Amino acid sequence: MQISLAIEEQLKNASWIRRMFEEGLRLKAERGEDAVFDYSIGNPDLEPPAAVLERLKQVVNNSTPGSHGYMTNGGYMETREAVARKLRADSGLDYQAEDIFMTAGAAGACNVVLKAILNPGDEVMVMVPYFVEYRFYIANHGGVMVPIDTTEDFLPDIEAIRRAITPRTKVIMLNTPNNPTGRVYPAEILRQIEQLVSEADHPIAILSDEPYKVYTYEGKKQTDVSRIITNTIVCNSWSKSLGLPGERVGYVALSPRISGREALRKACIFTNRVLGYLNAPAIWQWVLMETASLSIDVAPYEKRRNALVSGLREAGYDVVAPDGAFYLFQKTPIADDKEFVRMLVDEGILTVPGSGFGRAGYMRLSLTIPFERIAPSIPGFRRALERVRA
Ligand code: PLP
Repeated sequence: MQISLAIEEQLKNASWIRRMFEEGLRLKAERGEDAVFDYSIGNPDLEPPAAVLERLKQVVNNSTPGSHGYMTNGGYMETREAVARKLRADSGLDYQAEDIFMTAGAAGACNVVLKAILNPGDEVMVMVPYFVEYRFYIANHGGVMVPIDTTEDFLPDIEAIRRAITPRTKVIMLNTPNNPTGRVYPAEILRQIEQLVSEADHPIAILSDEPYKVYTYEGKKQTDVSRIITNTIVCNSWSKSLGLPGERVGYVALSPRISGREALRKACIFTNRVLGYLNAPAIWQWVLMETASLSIDVAPYEKRRNALVSGLREAGYDVVAPDGAFYLFQKTPIADDKEFVRMLVDEGILTVPGSGFGRAGYMRLSLTIPFERIAPSIPGFRRALERVRA
């Protein structure tokens, strides 16, 4: 049986992250674990908070009849209420449990929303560089991805967005704190986007993909997007905030201010079903009823960020420290980022070329590497830079 032409094409462009991960397995087998420094994959490596694991044990030990059955299509009302409570506190808006739908992670949430609102050919703007999978999520539902270049410091370029608006513009996807740049969009930028969208002659939704919301450094905080932008649909998960990426728990939240809320509510519940996800797993919804607003301690990531930033600076790189998420998006000392990434592989260092995120000339380094592995990786970064300069 032949696979579809579309999937064949998508596979060609598919993840550089995966490719580097496989490169890492090869290198580790060849040179041994200690000779490889893996900055490629963004798999959160800190364990979930003790309170979450404790609650999981309670749920398993006190399982009552029916607690593993199907539930209402949006998820357990108590879990949705726990999410709404947290969103009310973050945004100051009157979020309702009925407007929260439990999904299979943030990825599931994005797909549920895009399926609910896109007609074939509708345009979805994404800020470049962008999380690679957006391209595929949009294509899944017949949309057309419109990449928008960001400013020099990777913030949304308001004029570029304005120029790109057409009658087919349906959605603008925002991701802050951002993967891969580590930028936290300031409130002022969000206000400018709100202004722009409110001036458009047709409704445009902001899909706010927020899995890194709690990951901010140096006391910075992420302003809640829906507090500022009226037509916000939040897609979020506990993959990063509670270190649960393998458990596939997330949600869609409709802002209380969004236009057409009633129809959207019905559509999202339906698309969650027909995409086959149904809901986030029951056990995790029971756990989250009590723990939805907890977060892992991001201090270990900040410590790694600081060590990597100062290590790279000492090695001669010009580094912009990330404000949030757990990535550093570093300019490569030669324009050909793939070539520089290959030079780092020679040093046993795995990174992901910026081209994989739509922005050549950069590379992404993930801070999920253990702290002790950072200092011994720095001489390799230094040697690669010296080779370029020579
Ligand atoms: N959005 C962004 C920007 C991500 O980086 C990721 C995962 O890395 C996702 C969505 C998907 O998150 P989840 O694992 O919760 O589906």
